[in-house]
Amino acid sequence: PNAAADVAAHLHSYTNLATHGQVEPLLITRGDGIHVEDEAGRRYIEGMSGLWCASLGFGHPRLVQAGIDALKTLPYYHTFNHRSNPAAAQLAERLLALAPVPMARVFFANSGSEANDSAVKMIWYYFNAIGKPGKKKIIGRDRAYHGVTVASASIGGLAANHADFDLPIDRILRTGSPHHYRDALPGESAEDFATRRADELEQLILNEGPDTVAAFFAEPVMGAGGVIVPPPTYFEKIQAVLRRYDVLLVADEVICGFGRTGEMFGTTTFGMRPDILTCAKSLSSAYVPISAVMVSQKVHDAMAANSGRIGTFGHGYTYSGHPVAAAVALETLKVYEDEGILAHTRALAPRFAQGLATQAERRIVGNMRAVGLIGALELMADGAARAPFDPALKAGYQVAQYALEEGLIVRAMGDTVALCPPLIITPAEMDELFARLGRALGRFE
Ligand code: PLP
Repeated sequence: PNAAADVAAHLHSYTNLATHGQVEPLLITRGDGIHVEDEAGRRYIEGMSGLWCASLGFGHPRLVQAGIDALKTLPYYHTFNHRSNPAAAQLAERLLALAPVPMARVFFANSGSEANDSAVKMIWYYFNAIGKPGKKKIIGRDRAYHGVTVASASIGGLAANHADFDLPIDRILRTGSPHHYRDALPGESAEDFATRRADELEQLILNEGPDTVAAFFAEPVMGAGGVIVPPPTYFEKIQAVLRRYDVLLVADEVICGFGRTGEMFGTTTFGMRPDILTCAKSLSSAYVPISAVMVSQKVHDAMAANSGRIGTFGHGYTYSGHPVAAAVALETLKVYEDEGILAHTRALAPRFAQGLATQAERRIVGNMRAVGLIGALELMADGAARAPFDPALKAGYQVAQYALEEGLIVRAMGDTVALCPPLIITPAEMDELFARLGRALGRFE
């Protein structure tokens, strides 16, 4: 009955709406550890932590308790007009202490999309504040994913987020992605490729006029675009260009933040020095919706001065700094520390990379990528010859379906199959994950 109700009544997220009635929806009813269970009682290893987010798995008792306690004490209050609550204040303070580069203030929202849209507004506000109102264009990259709100979807580089939504909006520029395997010229080294990407960025800024370009958005590791790990020296070279033309860097840490890459932030893994950092997902291990925007002293001070001039910083959500969400996030950050999640992630990263590398030896795998506990296999009809599959075969989708039948949830993005398991995964569970993935790949091969 729930599946029927879902088909009849639910306008689905990110789904083919026309075929939703023909595909049996997968209704997940419960979860524990790295597993989730569907209505029929089938259990799956959640190899994607949901949508790259449930880092502590499904059912961590401390997060549940933190939520209950917060609901009992103060189920809601807002943060407009100088109001706040203890959890929001403590979480902001804790995030500043964890920040990978010095940050001055934390703004709260509810989703990664909202965090990124908030960052865009702050950037426009900032450049108005410092008397450079012409500096407004935002640069995004091919294959980027920053969310689905009007600005964040526009900055993203995925066609499905633009098509027939009349996006992107204007003021958005696009440059190439750091996907060496796909985008390098024949024989081009990773470093030369990184240099070329930085040169292209510089040319774009010069063509547009540096006085019109405000910011560059980047995920440390691109997630939804196919788990694209930037080549060495990429961010160093990109940032040299940004500095030259006074273009702000926004690090979108929505996936990478809180340990995924083996450091607390992907920013640290890849040597980024962002002016603004957005995060969400693992901030609460996804148990409650919450996201954050961290801003540097420079950005904050200018915004504060401008707000002083015009009266109010006219931005914020009903649920910004929601006390229940903030309490669960605060407890999540404590659990990461108490349970040594970062050290655990680092210790397991080689096993994860090895698991992927073993599968990458198959004829149908062209490329494998991994950092920390996020990775992907790029499927090819003939990996050695770099011959892609006929798109009609839907190779990625098919492998994901077989994996589901084997009791493993992975994510197919075109012919790239991604893994992003809960960070609490044990070595034995990881071996089981790869055994199931191996069977799924073997069935397709
Ligand atoms: N940024 C990145 C890098 C993401 O991966 C996502 C979601 O997957 C978002 C932003 C958007 O977050 P949300 O879906 O919470 O709006």
